[in-house]
Amino acid sequence: MSFDTLGLSADILRAVEEQGYREPTPVQRQAIPVVLAGRDLMASAQTGTGKTAGFTLPLLQKLSANAGAAKGRRPVRALILTPTRELAAQVGDNVQDYSKYLSLRSLVVFGGVSINPQMMKLRGGVDILIATPGRLLDLEHQNAVDLSKIEILVLDEADRMLDMGFIHDIRRVLAKLPAKRQNLLFSATFSDDIRALAEKLLHNPAQIEVARRNTASEQVTQHVHFVDKKRKRELLSYLIGRDNWRQVLVFTRTKHGANHLAEQLNKDGITAAAIHGNKSQGARTRALADFKANTIRVLVATDIAARGLDIEELPHVVNYELPNVPEDYVHRIGRTGRAAATGEALSLVCVDEHKLLRDIERLLKREIPRIAEHGFDPDPSIKAEPIVNGRQARGQGGRGGQGGARSGNRDAGARNDRPRAARQGGRPQGDSAAPGNGQPRRSRPPRRKPAGNA
Ligand code: AMP
Repeated sequence: MSFDTLGLSADILRAVEEQGYREPTPVQRQAIPVVLAGRDLMASAQTGTGKTAGFTLPLLQKLSANAGAAKGRRPVRALILTPTRELAAQVGDNVQDYSKYLSLRSLVVFGGVSINPQMMKLRGGVDILIATPGRLLDLEHQNAVDLSKIEILVLDEADRMLDMGFIHDIRRVLAKLPAKRQNLLFSATFSDDIRALAEKLLHNPAQIEVARRNTASEQVTQHVHFVDKKRKRELLSYLIGRDNWRQVLVFTRTKHGANHLAEQLNKDGITAAAIHGNKSQGARTRALADFKANTIRVLVATDIAARGLDIEELPHVVNYELPNVPEDYVHRIGRTGRAAATGEALSLVCVDEHKLLRDIERLLKREIPRIAEHGFDPDPSIKAEPIVNGRQARGQGGRGGQGGARSGNRDAGARNDRPRAARQGGRPQGDSAAPGNGQPRRSRPPRRKPAGNA
């Protein structure tokens, strides 16, 4: 089946063709006709399924079909809400790509950066606004945006928005929208909370459900290499150099570990940058852009910072340290082998991490094949030690209680990409989520289905 049969205009098809997409993905095949027909939609689809084009293409088609009436300060007609800045930026890039032959204007707004330029741009007229909820409300309170003419609302990754405690902000946004509008809700999982939200939001919705195209087992080649903790960096540098890996996403458990590893790799002559919640938005955007442009070879990330990153055809993911939560393994390796590409995921596992590996393999329901580089065999005399995560190691006792106020919720970046419980006190969670006794602890509510259908 080709895109031509879906009822999209020639200008949109041309832009899609330039992206190199040959045929629509299952979510696109199902969602595009529903949205074009004007129906509400409840879609179960994760990142990696092509969901963004699934809602963006028909949205553009609908807006451009009725364009032209308003000149000058155009009211915002479509609103796409996303949980994080990174996702907002990615959706914004996609909207730009797909609308390049249309005369529609789009704008991305999120917290953590100056609000004034966003206000200026809104004043110039915007058709499609991609926003995180907190910044959108700030703009609305300052009368910088009028939401009363919204025709189409998209809630993207609704489950993550609820996980992050955005439900009140979402309700406040909904209260500003006109009653008559089309609503599209995308979520990876359908918890009771999501269903409750959907019930209030959607009218007679079409429902679609698609499995992720690249499940952990299908398109990603996975390997484990046992190695002593002290020699992980050496092994990583060796493999990158020997096999001439150009684009490697490396995961560490902690922000401190990410910084340290990036520094060490740079010393080894391998260009690397770290990306995590303590980095400024500018630094994170720059690191990601450099990585995508191949000016740095290695991006070292924590789980939280990497969630939602879409880097096309990423060939290599390395688990420099295994995640405390087995589901995070599936999310991590989902960064590679996306869309049509295939990828390789390598886990460097030291003796302390054997239990984490067992938990992951239990989740995957299979053993990950082992590989061994000659000269890097683990020293059998080294005994396992408890895993000490960053904050406990530095004796800071976590960030609990810092961000419980509403202002903490509003700045929708990686710093806040944590459930509300974590931000309102309690145990340290987020980028280093286990207590310091080596026992992995499931501290987040499950966001996605585990491997197999994740
Ligand atoms: P998404 O699930 O929207 O985050 O998309 C995941 C990736 O799939 C992105 O890199 C898209 O550019 C890519 N993609 C979307 N639609 C298609 C398609 N029809 N064919 C190939 N790749 C696609």
